[in-house]
Amino acid sequence: MQYKRILLKLSGEALMGKRQYGIDPERLAEYAAEIKEVTEKGIEVAVVIGGGNIFRGVAGASKGMDRVQGDHMGMLATVINGLALQSALEDAQVQTRLQSAVKINEVAEPFIRRKAIRHLEKGRVVIFGGGTGNPYFTTDSAAVLRAIEVHADVILKGTRVDGIYNADPETNKEATKFDSITFDDVLKKGLKVMDTTAFTLSQENKLPIVVFDMNTPGNLLKVVTGEKIGTEVNL
Ligand code: UDP
Repeated sequence: MQYKRILLKLSGEALMGKRQYGIDPERLAEYAAEIKEVTEKGIEVAVVIGGGNIFRGVAGASKGMDRVQGDHMGMLATVINGLALQSALEDAQVQTRLQSAVKINEVAEPFIRRKAIRHLEKGRVVIFGGGTGNPYFTTDSAAVLRAIEVHADVILKGTRVDGIYNADPETNKEATKFDSITFDDVLKKGLKVMDTTAFTLSQENKLPIVVFDMNTPGNLLKVVTGEKIGTEVNL
């Protein structure tokens, strides 16, 4: 195995499947199956989930809503997604804990780093909801922060594209994919991997990022076993 402890970042939009909004139960079940497959190999899995399928603070702010209010809604959206993923994992007989950065004690444990690590050591999948708990941040930043805090070996950013390209592959047929790239080159070339706050936090803490296609069954296991799919960002 290439990694012992991973942090998987899933965007909220990924949960929509073919829908325009919300959560597609089939997609959720597929993700749960993927995660189950790697836990069965003894890999410790933490997950940070976004909320873009339900609400984004900037979207609210662009229509006149107070940004902080909108971000609070976005953070709660990530808790909703976390609950949905937890439920799908439990249906697949995977032990899980949901920890929230925003206190919501009847619904999720509060984020306590030592507890999270202990859950991981016991083989439970730990889902981190509520982002960082602060407005003006993203769940990519939460993913990097939590990965560093629980000493994950890597961030696996599951997306619908299969890696980092020199141009947008969805609009440009000439775009070519990088197998690996340095943090510096991502910045120099102005490529979009994560928002700048998240990206530099990862760089400063020497935490590699692998961007890969999460919608192809078996890919998560492939990445974890060291198969060269996706793009690795490293020092
Ligand atoms: N959010 C926040 N602080 C955080 C993480 C998220 O305020 O630390 C809010 C923010 O409004 C964001 C929303 O939650 O737009 C959903 O998160 P994100 O946009 O990162 O989700 P994704 O794009 O991954 O679905």
